[in-house]
Amino acid sequence: MSSRDKENVEASTNEHDDAETSNKKTKVDNIRGGSNVRSWIWLYFDRVYISDIRYAVCKVEMVKGKKCGVKYKNSTSNCSTHLSNVHGITEDQVQNKMMQNQ
Ligand SMILES: [Zn+2]
Repeated sequence: MSSRDKENVEASTNEHDDAETSNKKTKVDNIRGGSNVRSWIWLYFDRVYISDIRYAVCKVEMVKGKKCGVKYKNSTSNCSTHLSNVHGITEDQVQNKMMQNQ
């Protein structure tokens, strides 16, 4: 019977650990701000699905009426790098613009 008691103690300890882990995860998400941090790129990208894969397509106009059209697969960090390197658009600029509009 003594080994059974030990099992019960271990089981409840594991449950406690799981609860702590999920609390930590929630905290990390709050600090990072979730998807809001990257959402600004969608001002300049369109979401496109090809064969169930999500692409981000750049819709910044290079010349009047001609869109850039660069595609990125599933990665918004590449999108923000592209905007800054190719179009000179940065997150700071976008946020400043939004502040001015309000
Ligand atoms: Zn582009």
